[in-house]
Amino acid sequence: MTDPIPEPSVIVLIGASGSGKSTLARTWPADYRLELDFYRSLVSGDAGDQEATEDAVFLLHTVLEARLARGLTCVVDATNTRADVRRHLVDAAHAYDLPAVAVVMTSPLDDCLARNARRPANRRVPDSVVRRQYAQIAAARPALRNEDFDHVVTDDMLMRLRLLLQRSVDRIHADHQDDGDHTERVRRVLARRFFGEDLANAFHWTQLRPDHDPLGALTVGGDEITLAYRTWFPDPLDWGFEAQVPCLGGCPGPAWVAVRTPMDLLAVYDDDFPEDAVRCDRCGADTDTQEAVSA
Ligand SMILES: [Zn+2]
Repeated sequence: MTDPIPEPSVIVLIGASGSGKSTLARTWPADYRLELDFYRSLVSGDAGDQEATEDAVFLLHTVLEARLARGLTCVVDATNTRADVRRHLVDAAHAYDLPAVAVVMTSPLDDCLARNARRPANRRVPDSVVRRQYAQIAAARPALRNEDFDHVVTDDMLMRLRLLLQRSVDRIHADHQDDGDHTERVRRVLARRFFGEDLANAFHWTQLRPDHDPLGALTVGGDEITLAYRTWFPDPLDWGFEAQVPCLGGCPGPAWVAVRTPMDLLAVYDDDFPEDAVRCDRCGADTDTQEAVSA
């Protein structure tokens, strides 16, 4: 089987909630994907806010037209259960002399319901809605060819996993090229692995000296958390960051507490970490000595 979808084109995904549309849509480059839920969340802060649908559709169509005017492929990731909605998309494609392709999702109803049930609450739709969408699409399917689509295919005819794999490989290569020197690569890999992309972008190394643990900082505006990367544990899986905190014994420190997740960093920022997690380089104060001092 070969991928029968021409480019550029307007690719109209047609499937109930939970039919796997977004997973399939992610096999195309990110800018191709016009996802209705995304525009709902953009205008209302909630991807599942059905009352935001009208504004979301307006935005989606605005972006669609702007891309088609540039001859760029669009993948419309919405249920597209209604004939008038599909009509609008087909007409938009043809207005720019591009083919319109219907991609009908073939997931059985039970799979749609199961996938829908696994979603976060604000993305989940009632089972009755999934059933209705499924029935609407089943009813529309035989006549799709009469709706002026240039191609009608089902998702099980498409071979797109390799494209997804290739895009992931390209992205890693691009990241490594961006990294340039070794320091930059270490920054990205370590900080991103522990704290995610946003925090990694706020992180920079401040001291990289031979035979010393590397020091860095998370800095945003006037706020800063100092971090050290520890590699003294025998098992590399235990290696990780510590954040500098005030010594509980009251000495100038520095004292440290392990931070492995964004939650740990938040606790450090809020001064809300367990006292027995703190270790002081200078006085060795931990909970025991602290209690001894207090007593
Ligand atoms: Zn101390």
